Amino acid sequence: MIICDTHCDTLYMRALEPEAKPCVTMENMKRGGMSLQTCTLFAGSKGMSDHPHDKALDEYAAFERLADSEGWEKVDSPLEAEEGKVKILLSVEGGEIFEGSVERVHEFHARGIRMAALTWNNENEIGYPAKGGTKNGIKPQGWEILKAMASLRMAADTSHLNEAGFWDLIDRHSQPPMASHSCAAKLCPHFRNLTDEQIRAMAARGGWIGVNFYPRFLREDGKAGVKDIVDHIDHMCQLGAAKNVGFGSDFDGIEYTPFDCQSPADIPAILEELRRRGYSEEAVEDIAGRNFLNYYRRLGY
Ligand SMILES: [Zn+2]
Repeated sequence: MIICDTHCDTLYMRALEPEAKPCVTMENMKRGGMSLQTCTLFAGSKGMSDHPHDKALDEYAAFERLADSEGWEKVDSPLEAEEGKVKILLSVEGGEIFEGSVERVHEFHARGIRMAALTWNNENEIGYPAKGGTKNGIKPQGWEILKAMASLRMAADTSHLNEAGFWDLIDRHSQPPMASHSCAAKLCPHFRNLTDEQIRAMAARGGWIGVNFYPRFLREDGKAGVKDIVDHIDHMCQLGAAKNVGFGSDFDGIEYTPFDCQSPADIPAILEELRRRGYSEEAVEDIAGRNFLNYYRRLGY
């Protein structure tokens, strides 16, 4: 079975927090049967003023060191994912990494970046974050960036983006958008989570959603486990997103993990819980990875 995960912050940890111990290791990915782990280049928490482009290059260098020392292998197309082999898809988180420049989009595409979260929790040249509740949509400069992304088939990731920006993408972007690490607000009200209306729209538009494993996005009391991850997946399936949902763990970017899902090695426990609830093998394989690969097929891969 092909298993994909669409968000982790391991490269930021490796590049900028050398004392931290990442849980996304080659050993854990192999133990969990991962096929495609998305590793993001994160802009950092301080926004446009804090050299996000340089940070992203440091994180890319951390990836290159892992490629040299441990054989981490990046893909040019997510469709290169195969069973029994761990491969890496690169993304960016925080469009300020592009510094408002179409050339930067091309530069990161040339490095293998195939997905870009338009914002983190700060305003940038593209748009506004969900945090803060701004009512403005995508900026004119943001549309220039988005046009360049679409021409390169770079997925537009709405996790962290505000609602006005989200609906702009649903209504006006030439390609279906995605949310690489977002949960359902109905089960856990949080500005980072998606409303039922957003989830339905994402499915109707042919988009994709990776359920985040952060316990505070899964449950209001923050005491979450595999059952809660599956509750969010199940809720999205009931809203019509059974072909549009999967995993967006956020490992190495979250303060703590679910008690029974602490690294990629524990992903099979989620698959087991889906089976236990009566999901067919076909449906489990969709959620594990096929939905994500089909999303990229819709982008033209
Ligand atoms: Zn994030």
